[in-house]
Amino acid sequence: MEFMNFAFHCKSKPKEGTGKKIAIIGAGPAGLVAAGYLACMGHEIDVYDKQPEPGGLMIFGIPETRIPIERVRLGCEHLEEEFGVKFYTSTKVMFGERHDEGDELTKKTVNLKELMESYDVVLITTGTWRSRMPDIEGKNLDGVYTALDYLYRLKASKLGYLPKEHAPEVKGKRVAVIGGGYSAVDAVLESKLWGAKDVYLLYRRTIYEAPAGIYEINQLKNKGVHWMELVTPNRIIGEGHVKGIELLKCKLGEPDASGRR
Ligand SMILES: Cc1cc2nc3c(=O)[nH]c(=O)nc-3n(C[C@H](O)[C@H](O)[C@H](O)COP(=O)(O)OP(=O)(O)OC[C@H]3O[C@@H](n4cnc5c(N)ncnc54)[C@H](O)[C@@H]3O)c2cc1C
Repeated sequence: MEFMNFAFHCKSKPKEGTGKKIAIIGAGPAGLVAAGYLACMGHEIDVYDKQPEPGGLMIFGIPETRIPIERVRLGCEHLEEEFGVKFYTSTKVMFGERHDEGDELTKKTVNLKELMESYDVVLITTGTWRSRMPDIEGKNLDGVYTALDYLYRLKASKLGYLPKEHAPEVKGKRVAVIGGGYSAVDAVLESKLWGAKDVYLLYRRTIYEAPAGIYEINQLKNKGVHWMELVTPNRIIGEGHVKGIELLKCKLGEPDASGRR
């Protein structure tokens, strides 16, 4: 399998080093390409990431059908072997104490100030792992997840990093996904992959307004996904654990300044 070339800018390997040390915080695509680019200039590169392996959302969010994990892994090995990039994984760089999304697999912390004192340059490429949860009754029930948390838990568990009991129970279950964008589509695809019995995709506008587009949604429908449009969640029903969802029927309004209804 072909490796993902994070040093694609590099015409030839540097003949000698510059003597400069650079720390990169975050090993998602942004951090990895920066590592390839800067290592090609002859700098010494250390990459810190709070996940147990580099790759960011390419490993821990995006379905494998879109980005094969093996290509990302081979790309990271290429950075290590060809350019001497070092990875410090399960290591969160912090400034003060704070719990963030995706912290579940962190084992060590390093202070940002210490890094700034030990390196010539510190580059922050930590992405935007912050989900939005609708403020509705039942949002804190067991079995209710944001798309990113859901995908992260499924993938981290599949890769053997997170115990199975920390992953959502999907096999043989009914799953409702709220939204009409690509994250919603990915949550639907992963649910099918994990053996969900019935998957519903609930969207407040129509298929014509859905950010994921008609083609993607029709593909899901062809796979047996139940598409429900012009609905929005009013509350999530359950005692302790989610049991159902109460929906309100929506109507398209007049187009706004951008033409969107
Ligand atoms: C569900 C989903 C599907 C997507 N599908 C696609 C797609 O098909 N194609 C596409 O091009 N894009 C897709 N995207 C968007 C893509 O994932 C992002 O644009 C991309 O991952 C951003 O790269 P990044 O390097 O900035 O951040 P990330 O990939 O988020 O990487 C950031 C890294 O920083 C680490 N980190 C964060 N804070 C710290 C800290 N304090 N200390 C140490 N490490 C830290 C994280 O662990 C993570 O590994 C998708 C996004 C989502 C959520």
